[in-house]
Amino acid sequence: MTQYDYDLFTIGAGSGGVRASRVAASLGVRVAVAEERYLGGTCVNVGCVPKKLLVYAAHYREEFHDAAGFGWTVGESRFDWSRLIANKNTEIQRLNGVYEKLLGNAGVEIIDGSAHLVDAHTVAVGDKNFTAETILIAAGGWPSVPDIPGIEHVITSNEAFFLEQLPERIVVVGGGYIAVEFAGVFHGLGAQVTQLYRGPLFLRGFDDDVREALAEEMRKKGVDLRFDTNVSKIDKQNGALNVTLADGSAIQADVVMYATGRRPKIDGLGLEAAGVELNPYGAIVVDRYSRSSVSNIYAVGDCTDRINLTPVAIKEGQAFAETVFGGQPTKPDHTIVPSAVFSQPPIGSVGLTEAEAGEARPIDVYISRFRPMKHTLTGSEERTTMKLIVDRDTDRVLGCHMVGADAAEIIQGIAIALKCGATKAQFDATVGIHPTAAEEFVTMRDKRPDV
Ligand code: NDP
Repeated sequence: MTQYDYDLFTIGAGSGGVRASRVAASLGVRVAVAEERYLGGTCVNVGCVPKKLLVYAAHYREEFHDAAGFGWTVGESRFDWSRLIANKNTEIQRLNGVYEKLLGNAGVEIIDGSAHLVDAHTVAVGDKNFTAETILIAAGGWPSVPDIPGIEHVITSNEAFFLEQLPERIVVVGGGYIAVEFAGVFHGLGAQVTQLYRGPLFLRGFDDDVREALAEEMRKKGVDLRFDTNVSKIDKQNGALNVTLADGSAIQADVVMYATGRRPKIDGLGLEAAGVELNPYGAIVVDRYSRSSVSNIYAVGDCTDRINLTPVAIKEGQAFAETVFGGQPTKPDHTIVPSAVFSQPPIGSVGLTEAEAGEARPIDVYISRFRPMKHTLTGSEERTTMKLIVDRDTDRVLGCHMVGADAAEIIQGIAIALKCGATKAQFDATVGIHPTAAEEFVTMRDKRPDV
């Protein structure tokens, strides 16, 4: 008989925690998961899922307009934010129920409430203590905002999903995934959007051609993008917000949304009590098997700040369960991870950027910019950009980037090729599907001349 209440106690029922708990339970161990907020975590409740629903909604505006070129007369269109949010909430509640069932059917006990470590084998939830042989921290992340005067007036993505009405004017601060996606959503739904980024070009870390292409497309659509700009203070005046910029100019808005990054959500977890080491950014330090500095405590997902994406957290959770309970030591693979920004148009990206690849070796770059076939009849000025980065010596494709309709769907397939180590010759030997945008990736023949 084991001395502990559970074999595994998981803190956090988001993407990583749920996968780890379910797999562990399926391997026959006794599992409990504590969740203080919502089943499914950020992704299901205030992240990927509701965001994608809002992105779908935002696209209709252009689609109604584009329909005319194809002979359709679309009647007067009106948008109802409350209806969208209510429908989105219903869908999220359904998913919360699905998660509850998945965990229940797997035999995982769900404990409602905020958990913290008392020691390396004891977790407290409310006034109850639970002991476990292994503890998994999967507590996720939380928006982080800078401390400037008036910051109490701003919202983050957490609140954006529940606004009572669509703002007429919104200022979005930040230049990462979340800022870019929400700028596109609010613009598509009809708000007047100003996006402020502190550096010279947003989406730092993405390929430079992709960053430039998206900036150009967003400006064409009417988003007021301002780079090299920062906010010095925010005042509330007669119900509106006055955003003062570092250069002394000001912007009036109904809502100011900050998307200036997310931090591991580890406050109050009692990690110090258990001796779990954190890095200088407050993330839990783990080894390649997601084990923390305390041998029976593991951590997966955003609280470890490795690659903060749902499918990565799921892989980390799966690998943890296989390692600890399945007798199969498995390291989650953090290489060649594709990702997308659901901007308008979207970005899909896998592998190295030109700058990263070019640092280490000679490369060839293939780039193509074209008007997508659909827009030959719509009058839209939107352009698609596609780019391949190839190792000149080995012919291996190192990076593949796209800005344009369906980029996320297309890059998912290309990511398999990159994972398999495909060469440019193999891309060229692949027959295209005609007519598609994706076929461009197998028909690019002209290298960009070296500069
Ligand atoms: P990111 O880290 O991607 O971007 C944060 C942005 O805010 C950067 O542009 C950064 O600028 C800027 N910033 C940071 N601090 C300040 C400051 N004090 N003042 C002004 N600007 C500041 O964070 P997000 O919040 O956009 O997203 C968090 C994570 O969530 C992402 O890293 C991603 O992993 C994940 N995510 C993934 C999505 C997807 O897969 N589609 C969608 C949404 C989120 P700088 O570049 O100069 O540092």
